[in-house]
Amino acid sequence: MRQDYDYLVVGTGLFGAVVAHEATKRGKRVLVVDRRTHIGGNCFTEDVAGINVHKYGAHIFRTSRRDVWDYMRQFADFNHFVNSPIARYHGKVYNLPFNMNTFSRIWGVTTPAEAAAMIAEQRMEISGEPRNLEEKAISLVGRDVYEILIREYTEKQWGRPCRELPASIIRRLPVRFTYDNNYFNDPYQGIPVGGYTTIFEKMLKGCDVRLGVDFLMERAELERIADRIVFTGAIDEYYDFCFGPLEYRSLRFEHRTLEGVKNLQGVAVVNYTDSSVPYTRSIEHKHFEFGTQPDTVVSYEYPYEWKPGAEPYYPINDDKNQSLYDRYAALAVGRDPHVLFGGRLGRYRYTDMQDTVIAAREALEELFARHE
Ligand code: UDP
Repeated sequence: MRQDYDYLVVGTGLFGAVVAHEATKRGKRVLVVDRRTHIGGNCFTEDVAGINVHKYGAHIFRTSRRDVWDYMRQFADFNHFVNSPIARYHGKVYNLPFNMNTFSRIWGVTTPAEAAAMIAEQRMEISGEPRNLEEKAISLVGRDVYEILIREYTEKQWGRPCRELPASIIRRLPVRFTYDNNYFNDPYQGIPVGGYTTIFEKMLKGCDVRLGVDFLMERAELERIADRIVFTGAIDEYYDFCFGPLEYRSLRFEHRTLEGVKNLQGVAVVNYTDSSVPYTRSIEHKHFEFGTQPDTVVSYEYPYEWKPGAEPYYPINDDKNQSLYDRYAALAVGRDPHVLFGGRLGRYRYTDMQDTVIAAREALEELFARHE
């Protein structure tokens, strides 16, 4: 029997929206549902006091691929924002990522050779291949930078000692021997003018969208209305945690509108790298779009340990959780070949927006190659 829809996409975040857009473009009938009452997943932005507020934390789009950049620019113009966050440690400020401005501030050095010599001396305490985040960080930037900018911040963010965290977490951050405060190395970077939500509105044009619909609560009915399902929620939840829950790190955001304050922190992102401050970051959203509004909106980001029922943010990709995920993934292949699991939660992998766009487009191509 012909179904109402060819595809049911569960989740209106970046993975789901790109898949829905591409499938619709290829003539498929697509229904998209989301348990939240808005589109865009964690990229969602909302206008507060004329400022586009990133309600689930800072999303700065950047990519090293021209095709991905062009793809995104179909849906919005991107401005020339460059992320140059400031770190605060016991009231003193430092530039990020780790670069000559940082080294100069900490050690008083002025040349790359002097900075490299300091690091070379300090990294001598590490012998052999770094086995964890602490050893990796010290071998990259030395003990002093590790203590001021990495240790307490990382332990606050992940709720685990740096010695028990994988080195891969810190590999995301550039270390530079130039006076360059750009947090990213990618040649293309910016914030969509008008916020992210308009991108999602455009991506989902032509699909049917039902918000406030929890697929897992209504699965019996929803499974019947489409031939194929693209599920971007948590894979362990999809299988009712049958092998036990995967672990995540969660976040809580406190949003504050400050009337009459034009410029609170002078920069979009401040990282708080000492443990006496309970939040990891504060985001002053207007700076993403060079706003000159009379008021400002600031969001404070508090990490906490995920428990069933809380919002999962960062997968904890240690060996234990990875092998648990592998069991769920094998179950999915064996039992539900008509379901494509995607996105950060569906694949239990932390990805940047550009990787998500690439993964979604590839997944859709693969689906079409196999079935259409
Ligand atoms: N990190 C740090 N100090 C900082 C910023 C980042 O030690 O001021 C480390 C920390 O371990 C973090 C990792 O670098 O988990 C990755 O940081 P990134 O800013 O990429 O995290 P995201 O923005 O993706 O949460």
